[in-house]
Amino acid sequence: MLTLRAEFHVHTVLSPCAELEMLPPMIVMEALERGIQLIAITDHNSTGNIQAVQKAAAGTNLTVLPGMEMQTREEVHVLCLFDHLEQAQRWQEVVNASLPVLENRPNFFGDQLLVDEIGEFVAYESRLLLTSSSLSIDEVWRQVEILGGIVVPAHVDRPANGLLTMLGFVPPEIPFPALEISRQLKPAVATVLHPQLAGYPLVQGGDAHRLEDLRGVNQLKIETPTISELKLAFQNSSGRSSRILSSSTV
Ligand SMILES: [Zn+2]
Ligand SMILES: [Zn+2]
Repeated sequence: MLTLRAEFHVHTVLSPCAELEMLPPMIVMEALERGIQLIAITDHNSTGNIQAVQKAAAGTNLTVLPGMEMQTREEVHVLCLFDHLEQAQRWQEVVNASLPVLENRPNFFGDQLLVDEIGEFVAYESRLLLTSSSLSIDEVWRQVEILGGIVVPAHVDRPANGLLTMLGFVPPEIPFPALEISRQLKPAVATVLHPQLAGYPLVQGGDAHRLEDLRGVNQLKIETPTISELKLAFQNSSGRSSRILSSSTV
């Protein structure tokens, strides 16, 4: 069994709100220096830079899961996580068909940069990524499940685009494997301040837009860094486990 630290919420320079330092080799180096062995790349509504980060991590101890931070019709942010790039790319096709055809306004939102594994500029993503899909949260959940991925609502406690703010509750009909709390919320008081979270496995995300946001406070005991093992870990089942480390210990 492996014991490793994971950060499930990492943006690259493809997200217009991310700093320019969020380049594949920098992300990999920073994660390794901090003792993080598993990250998910979760740019807004796009999977375009995942492969570059995976290539940058090749040959290291860092596993890079393909993901996306999707904005649903309800303006809720959810992390969609997969095992394989191909699954994420199929999901991208679904997302593309559900996004409004709007151009990014770099002066207002920021640049959306596609880069390679050494961080060299490849192209601008001209489509506006910071916008809502026409898919509802339950449609997102259903379609990601069909593709073999999982949906973890992001920063559920945050006023902007958090599930609890946007919906006011956790939809009981959707069996989310875990909910992500923001780094501002102390895990010990999460269910006291937000009783709706009780009974759900919680992870904490750095929502990394800067290198220093790479926190990796989720300690996992799993056999392999795969989606099926993550599901078991969130349930603390079959000898797998997941817990949030206090910031002072990482
Ligand atoms: Zn978000
Ligand atoms: Zn984010």
